[in-house]
Amino acid sequence: MKKTRLTCRPVTFERNFTCHSAGSVLIKQGNTWVLCTASIEERVPPFLRDTGRGWITAEYSMLPGSTSTRKQRDSKSGRPDGRGIEISRLIGRALRMAVDFEALGERTITIDCDVLQADGGTRCASITGGMVALADAVNLLITQGTITTNPIRHHIAAVSVGVCDGKPTLDLDYIHDSTAEVDLNVVMTEDGRFVEVQGTAEREPFTDNTLQELKQLAHKGINQLIKLQKKSLKEG
Ligand code: UDP
Repeated sequence: MKKTRLTCRPVTFERNFTCHSAGSVLIKQGNTWVLCTASIEERVPPFLRDTGRGWITAEYSMLPGSTSTRKQRDSKSGRPDGRGIEISRLIGRALRMAVDFEALGERTITIDCDVLQADGGTRCASITGGMVALADAVNLLITQGTITTNPIRHHIAAVSVGVCDGKPTLDLDYIHDSTAEVDLNVVMTEDGRFVEVQGTAEREPFTDNTLQELKQLAHKGINQLIKLQKKSLKEG
């Protein structure tokens, strides 16, 4: 019988996991593992050209062996995976909220999130890990003297919460996620403001009271995750 959980699963960030990207972070959140890389390009999409403002975008994908049933690559199926596109856009929107585009200057940072192993909450782990990769990329720009002002406005993290067996539960793994009555993905800033809330009644419609309870639980989880992000970034 699965238990409800009121704390996040164990979370670690392995920075500089690969050597070629400006930021490269393997986030492990329980059995969900996502490699988040941040790559810098000295160009911006056409709508931002000559504005002096930068851009953050993201791409998300699950490796074939990341799930118990092999996930076919898009290149084989010949069509992009709708779920992957939706999640890519969520990650990009969330991380854009962390950045002052003027301070970043006219360049793009792309956050690539590749799920090595999935056990629920891969989109949230991508945002939380992507934030650390983004901070590393920005620190590289500062160290190189390319920019002088730190463009990170505040840290962002994301966590899933839900109702399982009638009880609020934090950081759903696959077993929790697949049987949850309510499923909510929450993205927040370090000062407790919301960036995005995606909530769905999977089995039973939910009340405003439940929503409040879930938001509070998410806030607690996000505080925990942001502390861990900052601790990891301090470790040289
Ligand atoms: N999942 C899977 N295959 C898929 C999509 C999802 O095995 O094609 C599993 C995986 O463990 C994932 C979980 O279902 O983490 C929940 O998926 P969801 O679409 O809710 O996204 P997530 O919670 O990972 O952000």
